[in-house]
Amino acid sequence: METIRTISWMKEKAREARQEQRIIGFVPTMGALHAGHLALVERAKKECSTVYGSIFLNPAQFGPNEDLSKYPRSLEADVEKLTNARVDGLFLPSVEEIYPQGFSTYVHVEGLSERLEGKSRPGHFRGVATVVLKLFEILQPHYAYFGRKDAQQVRIIQKMVQDLNLDVQLVVCPTVREADGLALSSRNAYLGAEERKAATVLYRALQTAGKELAAGVRDSLELQGTMMRILGNEPRARVDYAEIVDAETFEPVVRVAKRCYAVMAVRIGTTRLIDNMLIRPKGEGLAVEL
Ligand code: AMP
Repeated sequence: METIRTISWMKEKAREARQEQRIIGFVPTMGALHAGHLALVERAKKECSTVYGSIFLNPAQFGPNEDLSKYPRSLEADVEKLTNARVDGLFLPSVEEIYPQGFSTYVHVEGLSERLEGKSRPGHFRGVATVVLKLFEILQPHYAYFGRKDAQQVRIIQKMVQDLNLDVQLVVCPTVREADGLALSSRNAYLGAEERKAATVLYRALQTAGKELAAGVRDSLELQGTMMRILGNEPRARVDYAEIVDAETFEPVVRVAKRCYAVMAVRIGTTRLIDNMLIRPKGEGLAVEL
């Protein structure tokens, strides 16, 4: 696997691949790779003839009091994992390469970026949208692979692609979980042993809401109440939000009827975790995907 550090060389490689009529798949990441990232790579390998990954710990999406400086880094292991997954190239730019002195252009997806994650992390989605647009311009992918674990992020990128007429197809992949339901995340590395046990509360809360939906509950406040009760029973958990929202606008819904997400952000100790459950109409009823 070739490691590509400059924008000019990455663009040249992508141009070459396009000229050879290859289908380019792209998996953007911030590193500290786990099986969730590798599931995106695996899907891309199935669907594309050339697969590029990127590792870029994007400072623009971290707030001043967030975990940028202590975000887990494991470049050597990451390279090995991508090599074993037969990724064709790794784009590994420096911060200066992406944000040279004087950089001043940002992408802001209005509305969607202000809710939930955006409300708790001001400027976060502006940083995400900006770097993803830059990466799309540099790598020129036909398909880009994202995890549904970050459902609001995917929706914002989808909106950007639509609004700016970008020539890339997004592929959204299901959340990969540990055996006990905890969604894989690079941030799970921060959890101590007791916190790690407590962290399953997100999955348990979503799962219980899912059972209520299956039993016919449609009232959002009732479902939210259930999630809050389960989260509240875990002394190490501090809830940031737990809501039922429309899958397109991420605005709260009163009753669950069309495609929605149950979304939550919860602090376990000092570690902030997010998770969600997709709720979608199926036949006369609803199906949930965790
Ligand atoms: P990150 O490195 O956290 O920016 O994540 C890179 C990509 O991997 C994003 O599209 C995430 O949504 C996706 N991802 C992270 N965790 C998981 C997971 N547990 N299952 C599936 N995809 C994931």
